[in-house]
Formats: sequence, structure tokens, C-alpha cells
Amino acid sequence: MCRHLAYVGPPVPLARLLTEPPHSLYEQSWRPARQRHGTVNADGFGVGWYPVELPEGPEGSRGHAEGRGEGAAGDDAGFPFPARYRRAVPIWADANFTELARAVRSGAVLAAVRSATEGTTQDESAAAPFRDGRWLFSHNGAVADWTRLPVGDLTAQQMLAMESRSDSALLWAMLAARLRRGEAPSAAMAAVIRQVAAHRPGARLNFLLTDGRTITASAFGDTLWYRTGPGHVVVASEPDDAPGPWQEVPDRSLLVATEYGVRIIPLRPERGTDR
Ligand code: GLN
Repeated sequence: MCRHLAYVGPPVPLARLLTEPPHSLYEQSWRPARQRHGTVNADGFGVGWYPVELPEGPEGSRGHAEGRGEGAAGDDAGFPFPARYRRAVPIWADANFTELARAVRSGAVLAAVRSATEGTTQDESAAAPFRDGRWLFSHNGAVADWTRLPVGDLTAQQMLAMESRSDSALLWAMLAARLRRGEAPSAAMAAVIRQVAAHRPGARLNFLLTDGRTITASAFGDTLWYRTGPGHVVVASEPDDAPGPWQEVPDRSLLVATEYGVRIIPLRPERGTDR
């Protein structure tokens, strides 16, 4: 993905985050202002959102079987499962998305517009967000020669469960495996970045991850910004022109954000907790 965005806060229509503001993610698909690699993001798009809480019950907010049980990363008790809408076409070519974005409201959203890396799948399976249980994930960047990247202790089952043939889906499999083991999102993200960078020093690894409550992101080779307001936070590859002060995240750092605040953690170069 080449530009992505996540939001946590009071429920808002998706359009207010993604299409309405000047220079929103929608516009960034054909006219990104700060993107370091690529020119347009026309190879698909996707949005994942956590449905506004429904009353408890069999048809309640828990989603369907695919998002539950064995396949799900981490302890999912009490978390609503996200829905996704992903397409292989440019975001501006899908008039239905504009309709949907006006009508759907959510208090936690992760969206991306894609500029495909050479040698990856071009269909919608490679459009972020990727999902595992309650988690949504996006990757802005690229890993050279990714089909030969050493991936640590991933099992065949985890490899076969990859959503798509792409560097981003592989990185997500590596990260989700750690989340499933109960690692904290920021520790898991730092470990995957160190692990990949050790083998591919030129890899660009801007990750964006949420469980609907916390946003964890990395700045590692491309731009990352955030904006906080009363009870909400937006984390994005680049600012839109909506009112409110945006702050840039320094390269080689992690960001952990909730509606209550943002923490920036420098990524140390040594391998640290890598395993
Ligand atoms: N490598 C990822 C993909 O192909 C992300 C690409 C990007 O950030 N431009 O989807």
C-alpha cells in the first residue's frame, strides 16, 4: 500500500475520514504529496471498520466464524470483529464506495490505497487491510526478493493461510504469528522489522495495525503522520487538509496511539528481542 490511514474515536461516517477532507486518502490515490516511492496509488484500495456496537446475541457484533476461534490472533474475547471492503480497481473508479462511505459509520477504521510492488498479486486479495480475527493490518513499502526472505519459525499452515501472494501478506503472516503468541503489538512489530531488516537492509516497512482500540504503526522508510483531537486520533501516511495540527513521526520509530494519547518509541538498530 502506498498511502494508509487509521482512526480511533467516536463513530463518524467513513466519508469524513476518507473522501471528504481536501487531500483525503481518496485524493492521495492520484495525487499523493509526500510519498517517497511511486506516483499514483491506482492498484486497488481497501477499508476495514469495526461495526458500531450491536446488541449482544447470536447475530450481534461478533462477526462470523471465519474471524473466530483457532484462526484468530490473540485473545478476542469482548472485541468486535471488523468488516472489510476491498477492490482491485482505483478508489476513484468505484462509485459504490463513495455511497458506502457516506452511509457507514465507525469508531475504528483502517484504510489504504495501493501502488502494487512488482512481483505481487494484482487482485483484491493483495489490497489492505489484511485481517486476522480482530486485527487489521496494512503495509506501505516493499521488501526486495521477498519470496526468499527467511521467515523464522512460521509453520506451513501459517504460510498457506497467507491472504495473498505479496510481500505485505508475508509480513502480516510474520506479525500475526507473534500476536497469536500473545506478544504486545509494539514488541511484535519491532521484532518483525528487525528480523526483516537484518536480511534486507533496504526494506521499507511502514506498518499500520489496529484491533479497533489501539493503533500501532511504524515509520521505516516512508512518511508517517498523526493528528489528535478530543477523544480521537488519526494516523496516516500523510496529512489531509482537515483542520487540526498534524505531527510528523520521525523515521525509524514506532507509534502507539489510542483515543487518549500517542507515544513515539525510537526503533533501536540492534536486533534486541529478535528471535
Ligand atoms: N508492497 C506492497 C504491495 O505491493 C505495498 C506497496 C506500496 O507501499 N506501494 O501492495
